[in-house]
Amino acid sequence: MQSDIAENITSLRARLDGTGAQLVAVSKYHPVPALRQAYDAGQRIFGENRVQELLSKIPEMPDDVCWHLIGHLQTNKVRAITGKTALIESVDSEKLLNLIDKEAERAGVVTRVLMQIHVAQEESKTGFLPDELLDYFHARRYENLKATHICGVMGMATNTDDTSRIRDDFRKIREAYEAVRAMCPDLSGFDTISMGMSGDWPIAIEEGSTLIRGGSAIFGPREY
Ligand SMILES: *Cc1c(COP(=O)(O)O)cnc(C)c1O
Repeated sequence: MQSDIAENITSLRARLDGTGAQLVAVSKYHPVPALRQAYDAGQRIFGENRVQELLSKIPEMPDDVCWHLIGHLQTNKVRAITGKTALIESVDSEKLLNLIDKEAERAGVVTRVLMQIHVAQEESKTGFLPDELLDYFHARRYENLKATHICGVMGMATNTDDTSRIRDDFRKIREAYEAVRAMCPDLSGFDTISMGMSGDWPIAIEEGSTLIRGGSAIFGPREY
């Protein structure tokens, strides 16, 4: 019998087929056997929001898993995570970005990252304001990075049932992304817009998302 997790993966992928968007399976708080069911259904990208949990799951899963960090990264955990991720989606300050770069250079690796943009109407969400992001690229400070590749942006919509507000938030994220591209046409591989979670991903796709982060739609509710 197929598991619910396998079924959920299969049906999500079918719905994403033709959109060009990829699926990150957000496995935070779920045990390794659940991740294995997703893996056996063909899922290879997994997202975790805590460094400790991510580091403990890596040795338990096959080597071809691409791990994404999607939660706030504390500066004192940067060294431990360096070289372990396919993508850090949650770079929320220039200070953190520069530290990630320093540690990557020190370790002799290249760290791929997304810049997290703050557009939601919630104090608790972190990230660059769109204007701060544009300033950073306008001043071409990314040219100082030695071992970090900025691959795009990540963002979250306001947690609300108001779909026009959600759409508006996603549009702001996409517009910030497009403004950076227009300003810095030389930026290579800046091609990712990570937005959309279990409850709002269809709107995110309509607004140009290339990476969906689905947790509860795959694994069911989390037990904290
Ligand atoms: C937990 C989390 C998700 C997944 O949320 P679901 O609503 O379960 O799909 C996506 N993105 C981030 C940044 C998260 O922390």
